[in-house]
Amino acid sequence: MNSGTSVCHSSSQTPPIWALIQGRGDHPSKGTREHWKRIDPFQDTLRRLREAFKSGRTRSAEFRAAQLQGLGRFLQENKQLLQDALAQDLHKSAFEADVSEIITTQNEVDYALKNLQAWMKDEPGSTNLFMKLDSVFIRKEPFGLVLIIAPWNYPVNLVLVPLVGALAAGNCVVLKPSEISQGTEKVVAEVLPRYLDQSCFAVVLGGPQETGQLLEHKFDYIFFTGSPRVGKIVMTAAAKHLTPVTLELGGKNPCYVDDSCDPQTVANRVAWFRYFNAGQTCVAPDYVLCSPEMQERLLPALQSTITRFYGDDPQSSPNLGRIINQKQFQRLRALLGCGHVAIGGQSDESDCYIAPTVLVDVQETEPVMQEEIFGPILPIVNVRSVDEAIEFINRREKPLALYAFSNSSQVVNQMLERTSSGGFAGNDGFLYVSLLSVPLGGVGHSGMGRYHGKFTFDTFSHHRTCLLAPSGLEKLKEIRYPPYTDWNQQLLRWGMGPKSCTLL
Ligand code: NAD
Repeated sequence: MNSGTSVCHSSSQTPPIWALIQGRGDHPSKGTREHWKRIDPFQDTLRRLREAFKSGRTRSAEFRAAQLQGLGRFLQENKQLLQDALAQDLHKSAFEADVSEIITTQNEVDYALKNLQAWMKDEPGSTNLFMKLDSVFIRKEPFGLVLIIAPWNYPVNLVLVPLVGALAAGNCVVLKPSEISQGTEKVVAEVLPRYLDQSCFAVVLGGPQETGQLLEHKFDYIFFTGSPRVGKIVMTAAAKHLTPVTLELGGKNPCYVDDSCDPQTVANRVAWFRYFNAGQTCVAPDYVLCSPEMQERLLPALQSTITRFYGDDPQSSPNLGRIINQKQFQRLRALLGCGHVAIGGQSDESDCYIAPTVLVDVQETEPVMQEEIFGPILPIVNVRSVDEAIEFINRREKPLALYAFSNSSQVVNQMLERTSSGGFAGNDGFLYVSLLSVPLGGVGHSGMGRYHGKFTFDTFSHHRTCLLAPSGLEKLKEIRYPPYTDWNQQLLRWGMGPKSCTLL
């Protein structure tokens, strides 16, 4: 559905608190807001999920596979509904919805189903001479009750891909989609639960206030995707219960372009990754660092790419997304005042539209270089050399992603060696996030933890080290007990050392 029906939502349309919990038996038929405020709206749901986990129902491979199959069926049977919801929320084209949300999530489901048995298997640990009769292994056990909090920019992918790992690992799950992507939130809340065992799974709706209330409860793991600001709130709440967290956060992702590059190739690649989903992508290149000479060559190339991608009037293109709501639109429109507009710069408040834009002459101190842009605006900052670019990047918080474009592999390698970021790409953008074999995750200010493919399963599994010793054969074990004679000690030191392991 790309019929221009995108609506700017106001986040003030949060439903009343008594309508927030979706799940079996949680809809009170009557009651006032005050009445429900006095009692805890989440208590019954969380108690029900805890009891389900304690029953052990979620642990078997069969149960986990059944949940994953349910999730797969949800995606297949509701593809159109999801595409429509994404078009309503973000004016997302069917192609972008498929590649970045629906197919990606389906791939994760299929991969988890294919590998579930192998992932669940105990992993043997090697032992030393004194433990040769023992069995040592790592058991992957579910944490218990886990909470997944998601943002609005990829509202299917970012809510369901973590869910794949949480279910595969045998947990009970509370899902909190973003209240801002309302179309998708509705589908997740109303349709998804029909495909999963509702005694082990619930969707909770709400904004900051309700999520804050939810976070007062003890969870066994919290997986949060969103801004660093809210990430700190989540981590503070988790610390009260010593709950482990994954924080998938955002930030400003630098994109260095050196003078050796072909400007048209760089323009195509950078523009696609910057303007995909109207720039509302956590791993999008946030700003370009290049010399004034490269900037001169890049600008006409970027103009030509933007026209080729979105036509002379990008607002009428079915392939360009919209800004999620008025609040984000106003924030982005204010950023258009930084530096000088070299390309684009148009906006239409009634349509939450911001044209694909390139800014030049921006100062490091201006808001566009201080905050994560998260929109279709690309500032260019001039640097004289790769050294200056590296120095610029390292002065700032560690980004979620970093990009380097150069014909010289030495330059790309220098950028890789002398900086740090969650992920890195040389001469391309963020396609690595679609791979199941490598993790997505931040470092420092851009987050902690990782997921995708097996990494998601591991994230939601406690790796429990286990040693099983024979109950007899005490004579063989006696050597370790006091009194510690010289002979005992020598034998123990040798037996526990690496050499003894290789001898056997
Ligand atoms: P956000 O932090 O405002 O909201 C994320 C979630 O937290 C939502 O579900 C929201 O309801 C909840 N929330 C908001 N305020 C809260 C509060 N005070 N207390 C408790 N919960 C609260 O983020 P957003 O605007 O939805 O998403 C944009 C941000 O997410 C950007 O910074 C982007 O880079 C980041 N992001 C990161 C990744 C990643 O994989 N690292 C992916 C997508 C988005």
